[in-house]
Amino acid sequence: MRRLNAPLLALVAVTLSSLDANAGGPLVDIRSVDPTIIVELRYAGRNNLVGYPLYPQGTSALARPEVASGLAAAQAFLRRYQFGLKIWDAYRPVTVQEKLWHASHNSDYVANPEIGVGSLHSWGVAVDATLVDTWNRPVRMPSDFDDFTPAAMWRYAGPHPDIRAHVHLLQVAMRDAGFWGLRTEWWHFTIADWQKYLPNQAARTAQVYGTQWQGKL
Ligand SMILES: [Zn+2]
Repeated sequence: MRRLNAPLLALVAVTLSSLDANAGGPLVDIRSVDPTIIVELRYAGRNNLVGYPLYPQGTSALARPEVASGLAAAQAFLRRYQFGLKIWDAYRPVTVQEKLWHASHNSDYVANPEIGVGSLHSWGVAVDATLVDTWNRPVRMPSDFDDFTPAAMWRYAGPHPDIRAHVHLLQVAMRDAGFWGLRTEWWHFTIADWQKYLPNQAARTAQVYGTQWQGKL
């Protein structure tokens, strides 16, 4: 048995090797936990608010292991309704957060990396996610990623009933999988017990967005 387990242990070691000291703990590739989750890191290409890649080519969507497990649970729920998750962003190094902050300077949407704990993305406990259909194609949602208009508000109903239904399904899937949403960005989710993953002092003083459900589902 011991010999049989050895390759498994080696695999775990490799998966956890992407540990980033800045995130305060181990990170895993979300697709190593659930390969059916679609990943399209928008900051890895040009289709984002700065218009150029902020991540090196081939960057994986990383998160705390518990976050990845939660996403797998949300994915299983969504599969029952012929939908699935697509990840737009996950772990975001502080250096990238700084670039985003300087490009936008909009503290309503982008956390200033120099204040408090910065973005919870930089701790590996927040993800940006949308829905795809059973063929992994995009479905109607209220807005695109990083669309800082009223359409980004999670109560936005939109011009078509499908839009409200899709957002609601995403929110229910993520809530039941242990995440909190964000009133001003329908795509942003934080693991409910996020404080557990921050150093004690930082967790106590943290003034961060997306740390509770801010509206009724
Ligand atoms: Zn986010």
